[in-house]
Amino acid sequence: DHPIHIVGGGLAGSEAAWQVASRGVPVVLHEMRPVRGTDAHKTENLAELVCSNSFRSDDAESNAVGVIHAEMRLAGSLIMSCADRHQVPAGGALAVDRDGFSAAVTKALEDHPLITIERGEVEGLPPEEWGPTIVATGPLTAPGLAAGIAEATGRDALAFFDAIAPIVHFDTIDMDKAWFQSRYDKVGPGGTGKDYINCPLDKDTYERFVAALVEGDRTEFREWEGTPYFDGCLPIEVMAERGPETLRHGPMKPMGLTNAHQPDIKPYAVVQLRQDNALGTLYNMVGFQTKLRYGAQAEIFRMIPGLENAEFARLGGLHRNTYLDSPRLLDDRLRLKALPRLRFAGQITGCEGYVESAAVGLMAGRFAASEALGLEIAPPPVTTAMGALLGHITGGHLSHEEDGGKRSFQPMNVNFGLFAPLEPGAIQKPEGQKRFRGKEKAIAKKKALSARALSDFRVWLAQHETSEKRVAAE
Ligand code: FAD
Repeated sequence: DHPIHIVGGGLAGSEAAWQVASRGVPVVLHEMRPVRGTDAHKTENLAELVCSNSFRSDDAESNAVGVIHAEMRLAGSLIMSCADRHQVPAGGALAVDRDGFSAAVTKALEDHPLITIERGEVEGLPPEEWGPTIVATGPLTAPGLAAGIAEATGRDALAFFDAIAPIVHFDTIDMDKAWFQSRYDKVGPGGTGKDYINCPLDKDTYERFVAALVEGDRTEFREWEGTPYFDGCLPIEVMAERGPETLRHGPMKPMGLTNAHQPDIKPYAVVQLRQDNALGTLYNMVGFQTKLRYGAQAEIFRMIPGLENAEFARLGGLHRNTYLDSPRLLDDRLRLKALPRLRFAGQITGCEGYVESAAVGLMAGRFAASEALGLEIAPPPVTTAMGALLGHITGGHLSHEEDGGKRSFQPMNVNFGLFAPLEPGAIQKPEGQKRFRGKEKAIAKKKALSARALSDFRVWLAQHETSEKRVAAE
């Protein structure tokens, strides 16, 4: 009945704790908040969302994140069940009331008879007497532990900055200029087709806005200049610098949106805001993560029609990210090769995003519990979303050495590019057609990858759970 220690009660650590305890193995979960905070967390809740309130697409038929949602639900994910219960409308995305969501995760873990939560910082490498331990301390791992890990791995964990998007008070948005509409009027779970607030920009305003972003006063960044950002989280001013059209083809694209106040005038660009809390009193600026200085942010964002008098509940900011060179350091069950009593989970392994962090926590929790029960379960296959993500992190079938050791490991969101390719002939042309038209082939491919993932994941899960039952019966 030796407990498994888990360090970090974020997205990954909370899910891992739930998975371990659900298999009858006791857990001690160490979370340093509120004793010690981080640059991004604001509360003492477990599984706090530090930036956006979105878990991204919930489409399990043709989107890799939607598929991983579905796999997690099948595997009894705590993070997904709490997200489902605290959903707010967001088109085709799964977005949540951040406080309701993390309060629910906290309560479920506190109420579990096999889980003990200890509040306090783990100041160095977890002690040997703890035995099997999962480290899930995230992108903002406290320095003492980060130093311990760097020493144990013999390599430096890489640290770099990342930017977050501002949040606006709804009642300060001018709805005589802005309007409610989801792109292409898409109706998602709990949505109405009118989930986003849209602010229109004409050509002249757009050009002045882009110029202001490029010239805006930034936080000093010299020390970290040249370090990589998350792909999907590029600061808005960095995108603006790439050229005057970049934003119109990125977060400010006007496609699928019609200005309700002036339906005949096509907006040149659009800023979208997404509901941030269940009450609908806060909206975040979609894709507007930034490292502009606070003063400059307020001034520049008030150039946007509809936001002239906007008051900000939170401005965008800068944060650190710590992650391991996992393909070299971890085995395919997320254990540190050099010190297998330590397992890693969450963003520190080099996945990216809330959902992915929780998914890696789910796998780490199951691997650790199986090991404690005397089982060695295989990782999910690379045809599944979880297996694909794990493959990215641990190097999959192609080891780093075989690769010439040249590849530099980058954090990544789950995406179909990580999945094992389809077998030849897996997708068929639509009946009566000699060839695919337009995007038909790409869509068919995504659908086939999604269906195969869910079917293979069910098989993996059944095998895993059957062996658990066998061991329990013995
Ligand atoms: P976390 O959720 O951060 O959990 C780690 C926990 O460990 C924390 O609670 C921390 O307090 C605790 N901890 C750290 N060190 C110690 C220690 N030594 N002892 C005890 N406890 C410790 N992802 C998205 O999908 N969407 C976003 O919009 C998004 N925005 C982000 C913005 C910022 C500023 C950052 C830094 C990251 C963002 N991410 C985002 C990326 C990432 O998905 C989240 O950070 C996610 O929370 C990672 O999950 P995790 O469980 O690995 O880490």
